[in-house]
Amino acid sequence: MNSKERLKLSWKITNHINKKFCKNRLIIDKILFFNSIRKSKGCGVVHGFYDSNSKMIGIKNDISLIEQIETLCHELTHAYQHQIEKNNKLVHNKVGNKIFSKFMKSTEDILKISLSR
Ligand SMILES: [Zn+2]
Repeated sequence: MNSKERLKLSWKITNHINKKFCKNRLIIDKILFFNSIRKSKGCGVVHGFYDSNSKMIGIKNDISLIEQIETLCHELTHAYQHQIEKNNKLVHNKVGNKIFSKFMKSTEDILKISLSR
């Protein structure tokens, strides 16, 4: 899967999760793939970040597709915490894990379609 297709898939997953769990209230302005490890003030996970100011999600380029999808769902969980739950602290806790699991599960159907083509 090339980078253009990965980006397309990322938006597909994001839009699906937004519709299914957030009534389309989640605002994600940009998804970008990056090469180097970048530091962010939000989440410390090196595979990605969610920037609550610019409402942008970043995902590392040189990890596997499934890791990128996990990263996307992880960062979407932070966006959910920030925008829907109005929680300014991006936390890693049991509630967050539950949301993450729901998001991951919901990507299964999208992945089946996208990867079988
Ligand atoms: Zn995190």
